[in-house]
Amino acid sequence: MKNDSCIFCKIAKKEVPSKIIFENSDLVAFEDISPQAPVHVVIISKAHIEKLSDVTEKDIRLMGSMVLAAKDIAADKGISGSGYRVVMNCNKDGGQAVFHIHLHLLGGRKLNWPPG
Ligand code: 5GP
Ligand code: ZN
Repeated sequence: MKNDSCIFCKIAKKEVPSKIIFENSDLVAFEDISPQAPVHVVIISKAHIEKLSDVTEKDIRLMGSMVLAAKDIAADKGISGSGYRVVMNCNKDGGQAVFHIHLHLLGGRKLNWPPG
């Protein structure tokens, strides 16, 4: 479960700089380097799990924490009333580029479907 070359592991360990906006023992949340909306936050697990299809029952609490962090960050960003989208891309067809599990929090504009 360890990946020394993983960019999100490096962000979690502060070996690569990022604009971190929230952190607890399990998670780190930071501003996306290439924002697709006025609010675009990436919420990652500190543990290296590659993708949603690798998650098991032992990760239930972690997954719940990620969703709650998205809700709290949305409130802090002032977009709870206007609304937002929480997205987890899984594997190639899901558009996953970084193989370290993460949630996207997107908002601050009307979002289209399919995502864009
Ligand atoms: P994915 O396509 O894997 O779901 O999303 C990965 C996201 O991570 C993309 O939105 C991309 O812009 C963001 N990202 C990739 N590398 C970095 C980085 O080094 N720093 C930050 N802040 N975001 C990154
Ligand atoms: Zn990683």
